[in-house]
Amino acid sequence: MSVLVLAECANGKLKKNAFEAAAFASGLAAQTGADLVAVVLGSASADDLASLGKAGVARVLHASDSRLDRMTSTSYTKALQSAADAAGASIIVLSHSSVGKTIAPRIAVRRNMTLVPGVSALPENGTFRKSMFSGKAWGDLKPEGDQLVITVNPNTTSFTLGDGVATVESLAVELSDSDFDYKVKEVVNESAGMTPLPEAELVVSAGRGMKGPENWGIIEELAGELGATTACSRPVADIGWRPHHEHVGQTGIAIKPNLYIAIGISGAIQHLAGVNQSKCIVVINKDPEAPFFKAADYGIVGDAFEVVPKLTEAVRKLKNS
Ligand SMILES: Cc1cc2nc3c(=O)[nH]c(=O)nc-3n(C[C@H](O)[C@H](O)[C@H](O)COP(=O)(O)OP(=O)(O)OC[C@H]3O[C@@H](n4cnc5c(N)ncnc54)[C@H](O)[C@@H]3O)c2cc1C
Repeated sequence: MSVLVLAECANGKLKKNAFEAAAFASGLAAQTGADLVAVVLGSASADDLASLGKAGVARVLHASDSRLDRMTSTSYTKALQSAADAAGASIIVLSHSSVGKTIAPRIAVRRNMTLVPGVSALPENGTFRKSMFSGKAWGDLKPEGDQLVITVNPNTTSFTLGDGVATVESLAVELSDSDFDYKVKEVVNESAGMTPLPEAELVVSAGRGMKGPENWGIIEELAGELGATTACSRPVADIGWRPHHEHVGQTGIAIKPNLYIAIGISGAIQHLAGVNQSKCIVVINKDPEAPFFKAADYGIVGDAFEVVPKLTEAVRKLKNS
């Protein structure tokens, strides 16, 4: 019996959510007395693969076919099926990322396993906790059976890495051209150089209070100093001040960074629904009655055009000191 975890790669490097999912799976393996096996799909260096040992993985199965560098639902489902067979997996763990959300239900149906999506902590007495209704409630899920496919919410479980080294084996997967039946017309990396929002630990976000797209320089400067990813409220994306992939909230991306700085955003319920699981929320708004202050850990009542440059300067000084 084993726990199998899909460790995701991007551009040949293991993603942070790979270690997060592996550490979660390691906790699960310890609870159930199972072995922990990871599967990596596509190009990855030997050192990277072995480094999964730091998250408690003993054995890594590597399907190195470079066509797997990009996910297609059919190729990843096949590859994960092969890995699950090779590992004798009774539990499969994936990150609750776009990859995990696409593949987990397919695997669950094909292997007749129970899907437990978007959990936030290791189970207690077989019960998993998950955030529901846009973060307004917690749900306790007690799955039937012990054959499970679990997806783990990114940035919700804390984990520490040790100094283990995993052994690596190659995994043969029978793939055909029809598994890659797509045409890439263009690759646009709009968030180049920034951590994608779902994985970002630091986010600087701004709203209609910025008055226009020409004023985003001070937002980008603060984000740059902090090494943060930029985000925005929905109307800002709708009117084209910022790209849609930055829109956070109920109808945008739901995020859980360690730090969320909201600038010139009122804090409407639909915005909060996507950001209220952030560990620390800082609000900068000139209106002391702005609803966002009720959800804030720290608030600055002031004009963003005065406060933000001062904050950036303070961060710069702190970094240089
Ligand atoms: C079905 C539905 C789904 C929605 N989904 C989302 C969603 O996913 N995400 C989302 O964000 N919204 C969503 N909305 C929209 C949401 O209801 C709000 O309208 C929106 O979040 C408001 O955006 P905002 O805070 O940028 O703008 P505003 O509400 O206009 O707020 C601007 C804020 O900036 C402050 N401000 C102005 N000037 C300054 C200054 N110089 N310095 C500092 N502060 C200043 C103002 O005091 C104000 O609080 C949704 C709405 C609906 C109906």
